[in-house]
Amino acid sequence: MNYKIAVIPGDGIGPEVVGAATQVLDRVGEKFGHTFIGQTLLAGGCAIDACGKALPDETLAACKQSDAVLLGAVGGPMWDTLPGAARPEQALLSLRKELALFANLRPAILFEELISASPLKPEIIGEGLDILVVRELTGGIYFGDKGIKDGGKSAYDVEEYSEEEVRRIAQTAFSMADKRGKRLASVDKANVLESSRLWRRVVGEIAAQYPQISLSHMYVDNAAMQLVCAPGQFDVILTSNIFGDILSDEASMITGSIGMLPSASLTYGNFGMYEPIHGSAPDIAGLDKANPMAAVLSVAMMLRYTFGLKEEANAVEEAVKAVLAKGYRTPDIYRKADGETLIGTKEAGKRIADEIMDS
Ligand code: NAD
Repeated sequence: MNYKIAVIPGDGIGPEVVGAATQVLDRVGEKFGHTFIGQTLLAGGCAIDACGKALPDETLAACKQSDAVLLGAVGGPMWDTLPGAARPEQALLSLRKELALFANLRPAILFEELISASPLKPEIIGEGLDILVVRELTGGIYFGDKGIKDGGKSAYDVEEYSEEEVRRIAQTAFSMADKRGKRLASVDKANVLESSRLWRRVVGEIAAQYPQISLSHMYVDNAAMQLVCAPGQFDVILTSNIFGDILSDEASMITGSIGMLPSASLTYGNFGMYEPIHGSAPDIAGLDKANPMAAVLSVAMMLRYTFGLKEEANAVEEAVKAVLAKGYRTPDIYRKADGETLIGTKEAGKRIADEIMDS
């Protein structure tokens, strides 16, 4: 079977980690007899430099004609002085909006081999930490009305949610919880924000369809605290765009490094955009130091959610585990412990790809 993938390496470490991810995808194709046709496209700072626009029309058109999108990261200090609407990050926001990617799944799984890389004590982490953050992605403050007033002396960004926006992301979160541990924590700030009160009411209404799911509501400040003092209590976390952005970065650190966490951004059908949750990491770009596992694990999510290839997705995840079990570590997860070997991005990609063939 042929699968068409729009590949957007982006900026900074984006091309390095996407290079590793596509190498692994090619190996999956060889092993399981699929053809993954990747079309490399420009978006982000590199697109601004090449054609003056963070999301060129051809890139958007090609994404719409593909089965899935694989993205590295966009942004960097050289574009930081540009006004908001002209910045590389606008490419991401536009892709999410144009492709109606309202559901962002961010799994935070702590691999057994990385317990020592987590900043939390093993007794706090507990066993088998596996949290899924379901973040609303096309609404809220990132897309609300925004502006600058009084000649730049004040500025505003509006947080707004409609019932329908909350309903559809809540449906996604409940159905994910149903396939997992049947616990859902909806995170909001309903003690202060009107939009959060609407969020809480709608989530409560959807809960009636899922009596088998245990639903709790939690304020975001408490959730941030609970994540570092008792992370094992969480199964699925459902939250808004901005709260999900922040909480998933926090959850990522529990797993040892932001370089470990993949994400899927989904819409109603099978189409999805897959990307590591980290940014372009300008501090290590071009140094062969980036951890490509988040990008590789994003490919596993693509295989599972868009292509329905469960065995292939498992093979990728097992290959990552095998490389970690053999002690290979990129600098972000290297603790100089016995049995650990420091490797770079390229070697990590090659070792994961080789494990696919050997499995
Ligand atoms: P960042 O995620 O790029 O980096 C934060 C820290 O984590 C840095 O120390 C970096 O070296 C480290 N890091 C990130 N990914 C890593 C990896 N795979 N392996 C090892 N270490 C890794 O966040 P930032 O520094 O806040 O942002 C840098 C740029 O990226 C900014 O322009 C920002 O707007 C952009 N950004 C893009 C995305 C995206 O494209 N989805 C997401 C977040 C930030």
